[in-house]
Amino acid sequence: MSEVKTLALVAHDGKKDEMVAWAQTHLDHLKSLTLYATGTTGGRLAQATGLEIGALKSGPLGGDAQIGAMIAEGRLDALIFFIDPLTAMPHDVDVKSLLRLGIHYNTLLATNEATATHLIRSITQR
Ligand code: PGA
Repeated sequence: MSEVKTLALVAHDGKKDEMVAWAQTHLDHLKSLTLYATGTTGGRLAQATGLEIGALKSGPLGGDAQIGAMIAEGRLDALIFFIDPLTAMPHDVDVKSLLRLGIHYNTLLATNEATATHLIRSITQR
């Protein structure tokens, strides 16, 4: 596998606290990557960790679609997406589209914390 440099982070509202805590635990790994995040997730992460994060639009306002476009254009190596499986999303079609593109383009893709931890350890090899 070629080197993984760019990572996008997305967390649904019910999962944002979990992602902030996860990012604090894996700060050293995250610092070595070029990061992007949907608007609200990115704001929370930057505030809590000081990480430099390329801000995209909020997920429901097109942020998920922007990440999908990055995948389709070959500009994103990996995606960590903490999905809330217990809450209906108004932008469910965007969520499905993003996952569909991630699968189609064989992007490294983690949708829960356990897999995210394996992913971040393996791509940063520390
Ligand atoms: P947000 O978007 O980070 O702007 O909340 C995440 C999402 O719901 O897709």
